[in-house]
Amino acid sequence: MKEKDNIIKAAYITLGCKLNFAETSSLSDVLAERGVERVAEGERADICVINTCSVTETSNHKCRQAISRAMRENPGAMVVVMGCYAQLAGKQLAETEGVDVVISMEDKSRAPEIILSAYGDFREASENACFNIEGKVSLHRYSEVARKDIRTFVPSCSRGERTRYFLKVQDGCDYFCTYCTIPIARGRSRNGSVADIVAQAEAAARSGGKEIVITGVNIGDFGKSTGETFFDLLVSLDKVEGIERYRISSIEPNLLTPEIIDFCGESQRFMPHFHIPLQSGSDDVLRLMHRRYDTELFASRIDYIRRVMPDAFIGVDIIVGTRGETDAYFEDSYRFARSIDVSQFHVFSYSERPGTAALRIPYVVDDKVKHERSKRLLALSEEKRLAFYERRIGETRPVLTEQNHVGLGAKGFTDNYVRVEMPIEAGERPVNEITKCVLTGFNADKSALVGRIADL
Ligand code: SF4
Repeated sequence: MKEKDNIIKAAYITLGCKLNFAETSSLSDVLAERGVERVAEGERADICVINTCSVTETSNHKCRQAISRAMRENPGAMVVVMGCYAQLAGKQLAETEGVDVVISMEDKSRAPEIILSAYGDFREASENACFNIEGKVSLHRYSEVARKDIRTFVPSCSRGERTRYFLKVQDGCDYFCTYCTIPIARGRSRNGSVADIVAQAEAAARSGGKEIVITGVNIGDFGKSTGETFFDLLVSLDKVEGIERYRISSIEPNLLTPEIIDFCGESQRFMPHFHIPLQSGSDDVLRLMHRRYDTELFASRIDYIRRVMPDAFIGVDIIVGTRGETDAYFEDSYRFARSIDVSQFHVFSYSERPGTAALRIPYVVDDKVKHERSKRLLALSEEKRLAFYERRIGETRPVLTEQNHVGLGAKGFTDNYVRVEMPIEAGERPVNEITKCVLTGFNADKSALVGRIADL
Protein backbone atom coordinates (compact mmCIF):
# COMPACT_ATOMS: atom_id res chain seq x y z
CA MET A 1 0.00 0.00 0.00
CA LYS A 2 1.46 3.35 -1.02
CA GLU A 3 1.92 5.81 1.91
CA LYS A 4 -0.12 9.00 1.73
CA ASP A 5 2.03 12.13 1.21
CA ASN A 6 5.14 9.88 1.78
CA ILE A 7 4.35 9.67 5.48
CA ILE A 8 4.71 6.09 6.70
CA LYS A 9 1.96 5.13 9.13
CA ALA A 10 2.42 2.41 11.72
CA ALA A 11 0.01 0.52 13.95
CA TYR A 12 1.33 -0.92 17.21
CA ILE A 13 -0.40 -3.87 18.87
CA THR A 14 0.92 -5.02 22.24
CA LEU A 15 -0.02 -8.13 24.16
CA GLY A 16 1.17 -9.19 27.60
CA CYS A 17 3.00 -7.43 30.41
CA LYS A 18 3.97 -3.90 31.37
CA LEU A 19 7.43 -4.60 29.97
CA ASN A 20 6.00 -5.24 26.51
CA PHE A 21 4.01 -2.00 26.68
CA ALA A 22 7.10 -0.05 27.67
CA GLU A 23 9.09 -1.62 24.81
CA THR A 24 6.45 -0.98 22.16
CA SER A 25 6.00 2.56 23.34
CA SER A 26 9.77 3.21 23.17
CA LEU A 27 9.98 1.65 19.71
CA SER A 28 7.14 3.87 18.46
CA ASP A 29 8.93 6.92 19.93
CA VAL A 30 12.16 6.05 18.06
CA LEU A 31 10.34 5.34 14.78
CA ALA A 32 8.36 8.57 15.17
CA GLU A 33 11.66 10.45 15.26
CA ARG A 34 12.43 8.71 11.94
CA GLY A 35 9.18 9.91 10.38
CA VAL A 36 6.98 6.88 11.04
CA GLU A 37 3.72 8.18 12.48
CA ARG A 38 1.40 6.21 14.72
CA VAL A 39 -1.93 5.63 12.91
CA ALA A 40 -5.03 7.31 14.22
CA GLU A 41 -8.05 5.21 15.23
CA GLY A 42 -9.55 3.49 12.14
CA GLU A 43 -6.74 4.64 9.83
CA ARG A 44 -4.96 2.04 7.68
CA ALA A 45 -1.32 1.37 8.41
CA ASP A 46 1.67 0.78 6.11
CA ILE A 47 3.45 -1.15 8.86
CA CYS A 48 1.89 -3.26 11.65
CA VAL A 49 4.09 -4.11 14.64
CA ILE A 50 2.76 -6.82 16.95
CA ASN A 51 4.64 -7.22 20.25
CA THR A 52 3.73 -10.67 21.48
CA CYS A 53 3.42 -12.61 24.75
CA SER A 54 3.81 -16.33 25.33
CA VAL A 55 3.13 -16.78 29.04
CA THR A 56 0.32 -19.27 28.34
CA GLU A 57 -1.01 -21.27 25.38
CA THR A 58 -3.96 -18.86 25.34
CA SER A 59 -1.52 -15.95 24.90
CA ASN A 60 -0.03 -17.67 21.84
CA HIS A 61 -3.53 -18.08 20.42
CA LYS A 62 -4.33 -14.41 21.08
CA CYS A 63 -1.10 -13.40 19.32
CA ARG A 64 -2.00 -15.40 16.23
CA GLN A 65 -5.45 -13.77 16.27
CA ALA A 66 -3.90 -10.29 16.61
CA ILE A 67 -1.61 -10.96 13.64
CA SER A 68 -4.53 -12.11 11.43
CA ARG A 69 -6.63 -9.13 12.52
CA ALA A 70 -3.80 -6.69 11.72
CA MET A 71 -3.50 -8.20 8.24
CA ARG A 72 -7.27 -8.03 7.70
CA GLU A 73 -7.61 -4.43 8.88
CA ASN A 74 -4.48 -3.21 7.04
CA PRO A 75 -4.40 -5.00 3.66
CA GLY A 76 -1.03 -4.64 1.93
CA ALA A 77 0.80 -3.50 5.09
CA MET A 78 4.19 -4.90 6.13
CA VAL A 79 3.65 -7.15 9.19
CA VAL A 80 6.35 -7.24 11.92
CA VAL A 81 6.19 -9.64 14.86
CA MET A 82 8.40 -9.33 17.96
CA GLY A 83 8.33 -10.29 21.66
CA CYS A 84 8.27 -13.60 23.56
CA TYR A 85 6.14 -15.58 21.08
CA ALA A 86 8.40 -14.36 18.23
CA GLN A 87 11.43 -15.64 20.17
CA LEU A 88 9.87 -19.03 20.99
CA ALA A 89 8.06 -19.70 17.66
CA GLY A 90 10.01 -17.44 15.31
CA LYS A 91 10.57 -19.93 12.49
CA GLN A 92 6.90 -20.99 12.38
CA LEU A 93 5.73 -17.35 12.45
CA ALA A 94 8.17 -16.32 9.72
CA GLU A 95 6.73 -19.05 7.46
CA THR A 96 3.19 -17.73 8.03
CA GLU A 97 1.68 -16.17 4.90
CA GLY A 98 1.50 -12.41 5.34
CA VAL A 99 4.19 -12.18 8.05
CA ASP A 100 7.15 -10.19 6.72
CA VAL A 101 9.60 -9.73 9.59
CA VAL A 102 10.06 -11.66 12.84
CA ILE A 103 12.43 -9.95 15.28
CA SER A 104 14.23 -12.11 17.88
CA MET A 105 14.77 -11.00 21.48
CA GLU A 106 18.44 -10.23 20.80
CA ASP A 107 17.66 -8.22 17.65
CA LYS A 108 15.13 -6.08 19.53
CA SER A 109 17.90 -3.52 20.10
CA ARG A 110 18.11 -3.04 16.32
CA ALA A 111 14.33 -3.17 15.72
CA PRO A 112 14.03 0.40 14.25
CA GLU A 113 16.78 -0.27 11.67
CA ILE A 114 15.48 -3.76 10.85
CA ILE A 115 11.93 -2.40 10.33
CA LEU A 116 12.96 0.60 8.21
CA SER A 117 15.36 -1.36 5.98
CA ALA A 118 12.81 -4.17 5.53
CA TYR A 119 10.16 -1.60 4.65
CA GLY A 120 12.31 -0.26 1.83
CA ASP A 121 12.69 -3.78 0.41
CA PHE A 122 9.04 -4.53 1.04
CA ARG A 123 7.91 -1.46 -0.90
CA GLU A 124 10.17 -2.30 -3.80
CA ALA A 125 9.04 -5.94 -3.88
CA SER A 126 5.39 -4.84 -3.71
CA GLU A 127 5.79 -2.40 -6.59
CA ASN A 128 7.59 -5.01 -8.71
CA ALA A 129 5.03 -7.73 -7.92
CA CYS A 130 2.38 -8.22 -10.66
CA PHE A 131 -0.47 -8.28 -8.15
CA ASN A 132 -3.39 -5.82 -7.96
CA ILE A 133 -3.28 -3.02 -5.38
CA GLU A 134 -4.74 -5.16 -2.57
CA GLY A 135 -2.43 -8.14 -2.96
CA LYS A 136 0.91 -8.33 -1.15
CA VAL A 137 4.27 -10.12 -1.12
CA SER A 138 5.63 -11.65 2.11
CA LEU A 139 9.29 -11.14 3.04
CA HIS A 140 9.38 -13.99 5.60
CA ARG A 141 12.48 -12.40 7.21
CA TYR A 142 13.79 -13.95 10.42
CA SER A 143 17.19 -14.55 12.04
CA GLU A 144 17.08 -17.17 14.79
CA VAL A 145 18.97 -16.42 18.06
CA ALA A 146 19.46 -19.07 20.80
CA ARG A 147 18.66 -18.24 24.43
CA LYS A 148 22.36 -18.33 25.39
CA ASP A 149 23.03 -15.55 22.87
CA ILE A 150 20.38 -13.16 24.14
CA ARG A 151 22.69 -10.70 25.89
CA THR A 152 21.75 -7.13 24.99
CA PHE A 153 19.78 -5.03 27.45
CA VAL A 154 17.45 -2.72 25.52
CA PRO A 155 16.56 0.30 27.71
CA SER A 156 13.05 1.68 27.63
CA CYS A 157 11.22 4.46 29.40
CA SER A 158 7.94 5.55 27.93
CA ARG A 159 4.32 6.17 28.69
CA GLY A 160 2.64 5.73 25.31
CA GLU A 161 -1.00 6.77 25.75
CA ARG A 162 -0.91 6.48 29.51
CA THR A 163 -0.26 8.91 32.35
CA ARG A 164 2.41 7.04 34.20
CA TYR A 165 5.78 6.12 32.73
CA PHE A 166 7.04 2.55 32.49
CA LEU A 167 10.77 2.39 33.20
CA LYS A 168 12.41 -0.87 32.21
CA VAL A 169 15.35 -1.57 34.52
CA GLN A 170 16.00 -5.27 33.96
CA ASP A 171 15.29 -8.04 31.45
CA GLY A 172 15.52 -11.84 31.31
CA CYS A 173 15.59 -14.33 34.20
CA ASP A 174 17.90 -17.03 35.56
CA TYR A 175 15.38 -18.60 37.96
CA PHE A 176 13.80 -21.31 35.72
CA CYS A 177 10.67 -21.90 37.76
CA THR A 178 9.35 -25.21 36.44
CA TYR A 179 6.13 -23.80 34.90
CA CYS A 180 7.67 -20.77 33.19
CA THR A 181 9.02 -20.16 29.66
CA ILE A 182 10.14 -16.58 30.22
CA PRO A 183 13.81 -17.47 30.83
CA ILE A 184 13.76 -19.31 27.47
CA ALA A 185 11.99 -16.42 25.69
CA ARG A 186 13.78 -13.44 27.24
CA GLY A 187 17.22 -14.91 27.98
CA ARG A 188 19.54 -14.46 30.95
CA SER A 189 19.05 -11.76 33.60
CA ARG A 190 20.62 -8.42 32.57
CA ASN A 191 20.09 -4.75 33.30
CA GLY A 192 20.98 -1.21 32.47
CA SER A 193 23.34 0.78 34.71
CA VAL A 194 21.96 2.83 37.60
CA ALA A 195 23.36 5.98 35.96
CA ASP A 196 21.61 5.32 32.62
CA ILE A 197 18.32 4.48 34.30
CA VAL A 198 18.45 7.60 36.49
CA ALA A 199 19.08 9.66 33.35
CA GLN A 200 15.92 8.18 31.80
CA ALA A 201 13.90 9.03 34.93
CA GLU A 202 15.25 12.60 34.78
CA ALA A 203 14.18 12.82 31.13
CA ALA A 204 10.69 11.60 32.09
CA ALA A 205 10.55 14.29 34.79
CA ARG A 206 11.57 16.96 32.25
CA SER A 207 8.67 15.79 30.04
CA GLY A 208 6.25 16.36 32.90
CA GLY A 209 6.08 12.79 34.19
CA LYS A 210 4.91 12.49 37.80
CA GLU A 211 4.67 8.73 38.24
CA ILE A 212 7.03 5.96 37.16
CA VAL A 213 6.40 2.21 37.30
CA ILE A 214 9.69 0.33 37.62
CA THR A 215 9.39 -2.75 35.44
CA GLY A 216 11.35 -5.77 34.24
CA VAL A 217 11.12 -9.57 34.35
CA ASN A 218 12.83 -10.29 37.70
CA ILE A 219 13.64 -6.77 38.85
CA GLY A 220 14.88 -7.76 42.31
CA ASP A 221 17.69 -9.54 40.46
CA PHE A 222 18.80 -6.17 39.10
CA GLY A 223 22.57 -5.68 38.93
CA LYS A 224 23.66 -9.04 37.45
CA SER A 225 25.32 -7.39 34.45
CA THR A 226 26.64 -4.24 36.16
CA GLY A 227 27.61 -5.40 39.65
CA GLU A 228 25.10 -2.97 41.22
CA THR A 229 22.06 -3.79 43.40
CA PHE A 230 18.34 -3.12 43.24
CA PHE A 231 18.69 -1.19 46.51
CA ASP A 232 21.34 1.06 44.90
CA LEU A 233 18.91 1.77 42.09
CA LEU A 234 16.03 2.69 44.42
CA VAL A 235 18.22 5.05 46.45
CA SER A 236 19.39 6.84 43.27
CA LEU A 237 15.94 7.08 41.71
CA ASP A 238 14.59 8.51 44.98
CA LYS A 239 16.72 11.61 44.38
CA VAL A 240 15.30 12.45 40.95
CA GLU A 241 13.54 15.83 41.20
CA GLY A 242 10.11 16.06 39.58
CA ILE A 243 9.08 12.42 39.91
CA GLU A 244 6.61 12.30 42.80
CA ARG A 245 5.69 8.62 42.70
CA TYR A 246 7.45 5.35 42.03
CA ARG A 247 5.77 1.94 41.96
CA ILE A 248 7.72 -1.33 41.99
CA SER A 249 5.83 -3.41 39.40
CA SER A 250 6.51 -6.91 40.77
CA ILE A 251 9.30 -8.35 42.93
CA GLU A 252 10.15 -11.89 44.03
CA PRO A 253 9.50 -12.41 47.78
CA ASN A 254 13.04 -13.65 48.44
CA LEU A 255 14.41 -10.47 46.80
CA LEU A 256 12.07 -8.09 48.63
CA THR A 257 14.38 -7.57 51.62
CA PRO A 258 13.46 -5.84 54.90
CA GLU A 259 16.01 -3.18 53.87
CA ILE A 260 13.98 -2.41 50.71
CA ILE A 261 10.71 -2.38 52.68
CA ASP A 262 12.20 0.01 55.27
CA PHE A 263 13.48 2.24 52.50
CA CYS A 264 10.06 2.42 50.81
CA GLY A 265 8.50 3.09 54.21
CA GLU A 266 10.73 6.13 54.76
CA SER A 267 10.72 7.44 51.17
CA GLN A 268 8.26 10.19 50.14
CA ARG A 269 8.43 9.01 46.54
CA PHE A 270 8.17 5.20 46.74
CA MET A 271 4.49 4.35 47.11
CA PRO A 272 3.05 1.97 49.76
CA HIS A 273 2.23 -0.55 47.05
CA PHE A 274 3.76 -3.98 46.47
CA HIS A 275 3.10 -6.72 43.93
CA ILE A 276 4.59 -10.03 45.04
CA PRO A 277 4.29 -13.39 43.22
CA LEU A 278 3.36 -16.16 45.69
CA GLN A 279 2.27 -18.65 43.01
CA SER A 280 1.17 -21.21 45.65
CA GLY A 281 0.40 -21.25 49.38
CA SER A 282 1.51 -24.88 49.62
CA ASP A 283 5.18 -25.54 50.43
CA ASP A 284 4.93 -28.87 48.58
CA VAL A 285 3.82 -27.10 45.40
CA LEU A 286 6.43 -24.35 45.84
CA ARG A 287 9.07 -27.09 45.86
CA LEU A 288 7.62 -28.60 42.67
CA MET A 289 7.74 -25.10 41.12
CA HIS A 290 11.39 -24.65 42.21
CA ARG A 291 10.42 -21.35 43.80
CA ARG A 292 13.13 -19.81 46.05
CA TYR A 293 11.14 -19.31 49.28
CA ASP A 294 8.55 -21.06 51.40
CA THR A 295 5.28 -19.86 52.92
CA GLU A 296 7.02 -18.96 56.17
CA LEU A 297 9.31 -16.49 54.39
CA PHE A 298 6.39 -15.14 52.34
CA ALA A 299 4.25 -14.59 55.46
CA SER A 300 7.16 -12.86 57.21
CA ARG A 301 7.46 -10.41 54.29
CA ILE A 302 3.75 -9.57 54.47
CA ASP A 303 3.92 -9.11 58.25
CA TYR A 304 6.97 -6.88 57.90
CA ILE A 305 5.30 -4.68 55.26
CA ARG A 306 2.22 -4.38 57.51
CA ARG A 307 4.45 -3.31 60.42
CA VAL A 308 6.29 -0.67 58.38
CA MET A 309 3.36 0.46 56.14
CA PRO A 310 0.02 -0.75 57.65
CA ASP A 311 -1.99 0.83 54.79
CA ALA A 312 0.13 -0.54 51.93
CA PHE A 313 -1.64 -2.19 49.00
CA ILE A 314 -0.28 -5.71 48.52
CA GLY A 315 -1.19 -7.50 45.30
CA VAL A 316 -0.25 -11.18 45.09
CA ASP A 317 0.02 -13.52 42.08
CA ILE A 318 -1.15 -17.09 42.57
CA ILE A 319 -1.41 -19.96 40.09
CA VAL A 320 -4.02 -22.72 40.30
CA GLY A 321 -3.79 -26.18 38.82
CA THR A 322 -0.06 -26.54 38.34
CA ARG A 323 1.11 -30.09 37.77
CA GLY A 324 1.33 -31.85 41.14
CA GLU A 325 -1.26 -29.64 42.86
CA THR A 326 -3.39 -32.31 44.50
CA ASP A 327 -6.67 -31.47 46.25
CA ALA A 328 -4.88 -31.52 49.60
CA TYR A 329 -2.10 -29.23 48.37
CA PHE A 330 -4.69 -26.82 46.96
CA GLU A 331 -6.50 -26.72 50.32
CA ASP A 332 -3.15 -25.88 51.98
CA SER A 333 -2.65 -23.13 49.41
CA TYR A 334 -6.16 -21.76 49.91
CA ARG A 335 -5.83 -21.81 53.71
CA PHE A 336 -2.52 -19.94 53.50
CA ALA A 337 -3.98 -17.37 51.06
CA ARG A 338 -6.86 -16.73 53.44
CA SER A 339 -4.43 -16.32 56.39
CA ILE A 340 -2.25 -13.53 54.91
CA ASP A 341 -3.25 -9.84 55.20
CA VAL A 342 -3.04 -8.84 51.54
CA SER A 343 -5.23 -6.57 49.37
CA GLN A 344 -5.88 -8.59 46.21
CA PHE A 345 -4.94 -11.80 44.39
CA HIS A 346 -4.16 -12.03 40.66
CA VAL A 347 -5.24 -15.57 39.89
CA PHE A 348 -3.78 -17.48 36.92
CA SER A 349 -4.65 -20.94 35.65
CA TYR A 350 -1.63 -23.11 34.96
CA SER A 351 -0.95 -23.66 31.25
CA GLU A 352 1.31 -26.40 29.85
CA ARG A 353 4.41 -24.75 28.35
CA PRO A 354 6.77 -26.52 25.91
CA GLY A 355 10.31 -26.95 27.20
CA THR A 356 9.43 -26.48 30.89
CA ALA A 357 10.45 -28.88 33.67
CA ALA A 358 6.86 -29.03 34.98
CA LEU A 359 6.02 -31.36 32.09
CA ARG A 360 8.01 -34.06 33.90
CA ILE A 361 5.58 -33.97 36.87
CA PRO A 362 3.05 -36.76 36.20
CA TYR A 363 0.10 -35.44 38.25
CA VAL A 364 -2.12 -33.32 35.92
CA VAL A 365 -5.03 -31.18 37.17
CA ASP A 366 -8.26 -31.35 35.21
CA ASP A 367 -9.48 -28.09 33.59
CA LYS A 368 -12.81 -28.23 35.45
CA VAL A 369 -10.97 -28.54 38.75
CA LYS A 370 -8.67 -25.66 37.76
CA HIS A 371 -11.75 -23.57 37.04
CA GLU A 372 -13.30 -24.37 40.44
CA ARG A 373 -10.07 -23.52 42.26
CA SER A 374 -9.71 -20.29 40.33
CA LYS A 375 -13.29 -19.26 41.22
CA ARG A 376 -12.67 -19.85 44.93
CA LEU A 377 -9.48 -17.75 44.93
CA LEU A 378 -11.11 -14.96 42.92
CA ALA A 379 -13.94 -14.84 45.47
CA LEU A 380 -11.38 -14.69 48.27
CA SER A 381 -9.54 -11.94 46.40
CA GLU A 382 -12.69 -9.83 46.11
CA GLU A 383 -13.35 -10.29 49.83
CA LYS A 384 -9.85 -9.01 50.62
CA ARG A 385 -10.07 -6.10 48.16
CA LEU A 386 -13.39 -4.89 49.56
CA ALA A 387 -12.05 -5.18 53.13
CA PHE A 388 -8.93 -3.21 52.16
CA TYR A 389 -11.02 -0.49 50.44
CA GLU A 390 -13.45 -0.38 53.38
CA ARG A 391 -10.51 0.38 55.72
CA ARG A 392 -9.66 3.44 53.57
CA ILE A 393 -13.07 5.13 53.85
CA GLY A 394 -12.76 8.39 55.72
CA GLU A 395 -9.05 8.74 54.96
CA THR A 396 -7.59 11.70 53.01
CA ARG A 397 -5.13 10.50 50.37
CA PRO A 398 -3.29 11.93 47.35
CA VAL A 399 -4.81 10.85 44.01
CA LEU A 400 -3.06 11.12 40.64
CA THR A 401 -5.70 11.94 38.01
CA GLU A 402 -5.37 9.59 35.04
CA GLN A 403 -8.62 10.21 33.19
CA ASN A 404 -11.04 13.11 33.04
CA HIS A 405 -14.31 12.80 31.09
CA VAL A 406 -16.88 15.59 30.84
CA GLY A 407 -19.85 14.70 33.03
CA LEU A 408 -18.16 11.50 34.23
CA GLY A 409 -15.64 13.22 36.46
CA ALA A 410 -12.05 12.26 36.99
CA LYS A 411 -10.46 8.90 37.81
CA GLY A 412 -7.15 7.97 39.30
CA PHE A 413 -5.30 6.02 41.98
CA THR A 414 -4.28 6.89 45.51
CA ASP A 415 -0.69 6.45 46.69
CA ASN A 416 -1.66 3.02 48.04
CA TYR A 417 -3.26 2.00 44.73
CA VAL A 418 -6.95 2.45 45.55
CA ARG A 419 -9.03 3.21 42.46
CA VAL A 420 -10.84 6.57 42.98
CA GLU A 421 -13.62 8.36 41.13
CA MET A 422 -13.91 12.11 41.69
CA PRO A 423 -17.41 13.17 40.56
CA ILE A 424 -16.46 16.60 39.39
CA GLU A 425 -16.92 18.28 36.05
CA ALA A 426 -14.04 17.93 33.60
CA GLY A 427 -11.48 20.60 33.74
CA GLU A 428 -11.36 21.09 37.45
CA ARG A 429 -8.68 18.42 37.86
CA PRO A 430 -6.30 18.12 34.92
CA VAL A 431 -4.82 14.73 34.11
CA ASN A 432 -1.43 13.96 35.67
CA GLU A 433 -2.17 16.20 38.66
CA ILE A 434 -2.04 14.97 42.26
CA THR A 435 -5.01 16.05 44.38
CA LYS A 436 -5.76 15.38 48.05
CA CYS A 437 -9.09 13.54 48.30
CA VAL A 438 -11.30 12.50 51.18
CA LEU A 439 -12.48 8.95 50.46
CA THR A 440 -16.17 9.04 51.27
CA GLY A 441 -17.43 5.58 50.32
CA PHE A 442 -17.85 3.01 47.55
CA ASN A 443 -19.06 3.86 44.03
CA ALA A 444 -22.13 2.07 42.64
CA ASP A 445 -20.47 -1.24 41.64
CA LYS A 446 -17.85 -1.15 44.43
CA SER A 447 -15.02 -1.11 41.83
CA ALA A 448 -13.70 2.16 43.27
CA LEU A 449 -14.01 4.59 46.16
CA VAL A 450 -15.52 8.04 45.69
CA GLY A 451 -13.17 10.94 46.38
CA ARG A 452 -14.21 14.44 47.42
CA ILE A 453 -11.58 17.14 46.92
CA ALA A 454 -10.15 17.86 50.36
CA ASP A 455 -10.43 21.44 51.60
CA LEU A 456 -7.13 23.01 50.79
S1 SF4 B 1 11.11 -15.77 38.46
FE1 SF4 B 1 10.24 -17.69 37.76
S2 SF4 B 1 8.16 -17.13 37.14
FE2 SF4 B 1 9.33 -15.23 37.22
S3 SF4 B 1 10.11 -14.94 35.15
FE3 SF4 B 1 11.68 -16.02 36.31
S4 SF4 B 1 11.33 -18.17 35.86
FE4 SF4 B 1 9.47 -17.06 35.31
